[in-house]
Amino acid sequence: MGRESKSLLTGLGRYTVCGANIQIIGGVSGAPGKGKRIYYYECSYHHNRGPTVCSNDHKERMDAFDDAVLETELKRINCELDALIAVVVKGKPPPGGGRDRGPGDPD
Ligand SMILES: [Zn+2]
Repeated sequence: MGRESKSLLTGLGRYTVCGANIQIIGGVSGAPGKGKRIYYYECSYHHNRGPTVCSNDHKERMDAFDDAVLETELKRINCELDALIAVVVKGKPPPGGGRDRGPGDPD
């Protein structure tokens, strides 16, 4: 039985350095038995495949990071909404997607 984590970043976040998903690792801080459980975000490539695959050993405290990320994500989503609205209002989708046919294509 797996318990879904309520963390913000998994599924949403991805390290731009290596493209790996962000995973959560847990740890306990403080004396055994009295410790408080702390979770960290960490690169799953680094954690599972080792530093030869990804040297990013950076960890972020989950509780502190969620606040910061939530704020940036909200801003980013707002920006994307603005851009989307601009496209819809102007009725002009971004260019691209033209397909070429080779001159020697058989019919
Ligand atoms: Zn990585």
